[in-house]
Amino acid sequence: MPGRGTDVKRIGSGAAAGAAARPAGAARYAGVLWAQSLFLFFGAGAEGYRPLMQHLPVFLKLEGKPCLVVGGGAVAERKAALLARAGARVTVAAPGLTPGLRALADARRIRHLAEDWHERLLASQRLVIAATDDPAVNAAVARAAERRGVFCNVVDDGEASGFILPAIVDRSPVIVAIGTGGRAPVLAQRLKTALEAWLPARIGVLAERAGRWRALVAKRFATVDERRRFWQRFFDGPAARHLLAGRETEAERMVRRELVDGGGQPAEPAGEAWIVGAGPGDPGLLTLRARQLIGTADVVLYDRLVSRAVLDFARKEAELVPVGKAAGRQLATQEAINALLVHYVRAGKRVCRLKGGDPFVFGRGGEEARALAEAGLPYEVVPGVTAALGCAAYAGIPLTMRGMSGAVTFATARLDAGASPDWSALVRARHTLVLYMSAGSVEATASALVAHGAAADTPAAIVENGTTSRQRVLVATLADVAERARAAGIGSPALMIVGPTAALAAELAWFSPAGPWQGDAFQDPDSLAPARAAATTP
Ligand code: SAH
Repeated sequence: MPGRGTDVKRIGSGAAAGAAARPAGAARYAGVLWAQSLFLFFGAGAEGYRPLMQHLPVFLKLEGKPCLVVGGGAVAERKAALLARAGARVTVAAPGLTPGLRALADARRIRHLAEDWHERLLASQRLVIAATDDPAVNAAVARAAERRGVFCNVVDDGEASGFILPAIVDRSPVIVAIGTGGRAPVLAQRLKTALEAWLPARIGVLAERAGRWRALVAKRFATVDERRRFWQRFFDGPAARHLLAGRETEAERMVRRELVDGGGQPAEPAGEAWIVGAGPGDPGLLTLRARQLIGTADVVLYDRLVSRAVLDFARKEAELVPVGKAAGRQLATQEAINALLVHYVRAGKRVCRLKGGDPFVFGRGGEEARALAEAGLPYEVVPGVTAALGCAAYAGIPLTMRGMSGAVTFATARLDAGASPDWSALVRARHTLVLYMSAGSVEATASALVAHGAAADTPAAIVENGTTSRQRVLVATLADVAERARAAGIGSPALMIVGPTAALAAELAWFSPAGPWQGDAFQDPDSLAPARAAATTP
């Protein structure tokens, strides 16, 4: 690295990457997390004790302001890039630079001074970051900054720092900053990840648009109260949802209708429906959009195959209406469900129609969409992880695999209603067949496949309660799958995967819901993935 010789270590390649958690000592944990309209405080104990807020969260306006980074290594690079992103006029003082810093300097995003640290560098700086790998230099920077009243951050040294840098979720203009007082950077990172997932992708657009409409709102409503009520309606309402879904023209039209044409009168609450796939069971498999909509709905109409954990995402005030169909027992006919949907939407409700798996894969979501379309009501369809994909993944069965299977078919083996599938079309070489079915039709299905030319030794796996804590996987062949399913007492919901890759469950099983394999959790140990049994057999 270019510098003044190997003995010049003072401004070197930066402090070690990755801040280590410091011992907490006597100080209490306090983390502050905030967004423009969100303020949460953790740390106040149950008795109401509030520890000293060690850092005041603020958002600094640094555009065009001089800021200094001392050091030219990898950490200095990250800090300089961050300051540059905030529009600061960044000077980096270091004899040598990383290639990344060099590129920033070449692009004139930062200014490089090829100098060792000296105090005059601080003249007229707003803030300074000491990012060398020499603690003595960093300490000198901090002392000089303190004397001059310049805010100083020493990387990886909260004690010596006048300010610390939070973990950031940047959906500008919405910015969330997360601090743990330097005590638990990895925890801050976790919170950041959770918030990243929780915040809608277009929340920045939402805030930006709201900002643009402020003047109009101020003109329309005379009092602060009225304005606040408008914004509450707005952020809960369909216009905000249109924005979050990228339908900006629609949102614009709605807001103008209320503010300009409607003279500020709130429009009749507009109902809408969301036909949402809830995935196969594991709540971790919900899409972000599904999760957001479940948490917004006034009414949730849900199927039997929607897990409790998924329903827990609904608001406390939401009306939860089971309309599920259990095998043989129907709470509501499809026609009744369609009518219910239309009824709630007409009544101005935001209705989340939650369906197991994906709504358009054997979910009759198509019929519900049609009912809404025919009634002229707005709806949206949110895909979900269909049971075939969830079960295959959690059972360790690749649906396609080079050299083994080059195609997949999802079929339903409903043998009732005279709608039996075209079996001969489903029997093919190098092919995986996934059958959504009732547990009771295993025997008829397996014999129909064999009768139409499938080899009796074709691997066939059954996944019961896939992706849930009660998942069971049975690996057999078409010849014995029915008998073994019966012996194991396989019940609903279950699906069957037929084809050469089904046998791979033995090798690729990774999901063991009940913790270590107990042996008694499954009535037919032979059929369980040997990999799992082997893992706990000494
Ligand atoms: N729309 C759903 C399918 C509904 S049909 C989807 O996309 O997944 C219901 C059938 O799906 C059940 O009879 C069963 O065969 C299958 N199924 C749904 N969830 C399942 C699960 N967790 N494990 C195994 N099979 C499941």
